[in-house]
Amino acid sequence: MLAMNTPLTISLTQHTPAKPARPAPPTTREGSVLSTLNPDGSRRWLTPTPSPGRWWTRRRAVAYGLIALFTLLPHLRLNGHPPLLLDLATRRFHVLGTTFFPTDTLLLALILLVIFLAIFLFTALLGRVWCGWACPQTVYLEFVFRPLERLFEGEPGRPNRSWLATSGLGKVLKYVTYFLVACFLAHTFLAYFVRTEVLREWVTQSPFQHPGPFLVMATVTALMLFDFTFFREQVCLVACPYGRMQSTLLDRQSLIVSYDVKRGEPRGKAAPGGAPRGDCVDCGWCVRTCPTGIDIRNGLQMECVHCTQCIDACDAVMSKLRRPTGLIRYGSQAEMAGEPRRFLRPRTLVYPAILAVLFTAITLVLLHRGPANVRVLRARGPVYSTLPTGEIANSTIVKITNQADRSQTFTIAAFGAEGARAVCEESPVVLTSGEIRAVPVMLVAPPGAFEHGHLTVTVRVEGPDGYRFEHPYRMAGPGTTPRKEAP
Ligand code: SF4
Ligand code: SF4
Repeated sequence: MLAMNTPLTISLTQHTPAKPARPAPPTTREGSVLSTLNPDGSRRWLTPTPSPGRWWTRRRAVAYGLIALFTLLPHLRLNGHPPLLLDLATRRFHVLGTTFFPTDTLLLALILLVIFLAIFLFTALLGRVWCGWACPQTVYLEFVFRPLERLFEGEPGRPNRSWLATSGLGKVLKYVTYFLVACFLAHTFLAYFVRTEVLREWVTQSPFQHPGPFLVMATVTALMLFDFTFFREQVCLVACPYGRMQSTLLDRQSLIVSYDVKRGEPRGKAAPGGAPRGDCVDCGWCVRTCPTGIDIRNGLQMECVHCTQCIDACDAVMSKLRRPTGLIRYGSQAEMAGEPRRFLRPRTLVYPAILAVLFTAITLVLLHRGPANVRVLRARGPVYSTLPTGEIANSTIVKITNQADRSQTFTIAAFGAEGARAVCEESPVVLTSGEIRAVPVMLVAPPGAFEHGHLTVTVRVEGPDGYRFEHPYRMAGPGTTPRKEAP
């Protein structure tokens, strides 16, 4: 890793107009395994200097839009449900007006595959644009928590010297504000798992009335506080699996934040009469502004979340020096090496092809989904029994899931041989939306209908709007062992 301990050679007022230049905070350390580790193994606390610029302005607009969306989504209604509600208590997922039940495992598996494939494709094309622009960790840390910290304590090298800050009250206020924001965030997060109506009830009542939900809320709040006050960039560096997978998801054509080595090197300030230097004056601003503490000039690194802060920092330096901006810019590794851009490549062809297959499969499953899911299962106990009437009976379970958003009534019948019928205590069966019921059903047929100990009958379940499910069921009868006389 290249060393970045060179002292500043120019002062930059573009970042902080009309203010004196700030002393340089430490940059990346030579020999460091992690950008956030000191040589003695202790945590190197990062306080990145913000670099307001065109990318920062765009990211801020996107971030505020996403925060508004994340906050409002649980309060909106589509077909009577929030656009996204993972209702674990009732085991129902509401997604964009469609309700998914535990019986929709195939559909959910296909949707998960689509999400993974879409992430792979997205990353192959646009690199870690998700991390830098849309990940809640980045959005809330960079656009809520860090700005609050700067408000109460000032920026690196430019501390807040107001009475509030110097009296220590600023720090207290900062943590109080952090707590309130974390609390609000925790409630918003949980509103994706519990309806807002229920959440409102819990919030307005005593915690002793709902100790479980209160504990969950307190835990989520504590975790958020821990993350945004202490753990911070460590989430991206050591905890997030997506960051770890970058080396396999990116290729030389993926769009990343890159340093133009050809243009920038050899770096440093040109000495009078000395050899010509590249455009990089080795000022270190790209490192000081980096929220993960790395030096983009070392090439593509797993720690880079592509937040574009180094682009803005370097553009400000280049503008000040009256040189073209873009020494650090969005560009693929191939582009930076002077190779042509290639949009079509194996992974940008294979991923969409698999996605097309998955979308077709999802469409087919959705078309055949119907308002109910029915399964006919053999019940525990003897294979068959003989009733006092002499008829043969097989015990079964008809498991019905109401997949509609309203109550539905179902009837169960059996046919396929003269005298064959279904006997169930509960018929018709009334199910509320999403309800799953295992209905004990006895299939009965005369002994003469059995051949070689078996008889195939059809179990039919009918519901509203012409819904009909038919399932062939192989009954066991005389000639099949074991046998048990009915009482
Ligand atoms: S890349 Fe730009 S910001 Fe970074 S050290 Fe060089 S000139 Fe400064
Ligand atoms: S290297 Fe640049 S783009 Fe990458 S995380 Fe640091 S500041 Fe952001």
